[in-house]
Amino acid sequence: MIDSHCHLDNPQFDPDRAAVIDRALSAGIERMVVIGTGEGPPDLEAGIRLADAHEPIYATVGVHPHDASKATPETYKHLRELLKHPKVIALGEIGLDYHYDHSPREAQREVFLEQMLIAGEARKPIVIHTREAWEDTIALLEVYWRPYGLGGIMHCFSGSPEQAKLCLDLGFHLSFGGIITFPKSSAVQEAARQAPANRILIETDAPYLAPVPHRGKRNEPAFITDTARKLAEIRGVTPEEIARATKENYLQLVTGT
Ligand SMILES: [Zn+2]
Ligand SMILES: [Zn+2]
Repeated sequence: MIDSHCHLDNPQFDPDRAAVIDRALSAGIERMVVIGTGEGPPDLEAGIRLADAHEPIYATVGVHPHDASKATPETYKHLRELLKHPKVIALGEIGLDYHYDHSPREAQREVFLEQMLIAGEARKPIVIHTREAWEDTIALLEVYWRPYGLGGIMHCFSGSPEQAKLCLDLGFHLSFGGIITFPKSSAVQEAARQAPANRILIETDAPYLAPVPHRGKRNEPAFITDTARKLAEIRGVTPEEIARATKENYLQLVTGT
């Protein structure tokens, strides 16, 4: 299995990071993608540092919408260079977060757009984070991302079947996380049921959003097995089938084959 989105650089893993990685490998997680947004610019290498140190770890680079106000022309120049690293599979997580508004919305939109242009130039997929900013996110993707035909990942997809259709139409894969195991998540469960088998991914977003029965605790990649089991139940297939399909889809997305 592949955890397509986790934050193993998070200080919550400082006491036992090696043990967390070992538990993931024992649980059958072959690869973990560490999202490289870290504490924000000027440090863009939070994911790369772990990818360089651990064979099963791959990375992204990018400026999270929370950190948009920290981005400078130097940031973009550096991102272009880091995207050439052999273990960097995508640019992300990028997008808009109007829930926390840690950066002004105007800055979030500008940094999102700028990074789409960088990813498009580098021919790399993007990883999208969107919260309470659905319409602006889709509108910007439509204009600035669709023309590249590169697709990407809707990380921790938590929308409705209608919203899922819009993302699929834009060429995105839907990555399902712990939220699908929560009660009262019937809309996203329905989206997970209907999604085409060749466009689904799974992720933990560890240390956040632990699936049931670990809800409320620190999440870690090994817990992805609970999300896979739930996704299998929703779709009426075996967990092995979910593991196989999501791995294949991930590899197809990052290698373009
Ligand atoms: Zn996110
Ligand atoms: Zn994340």
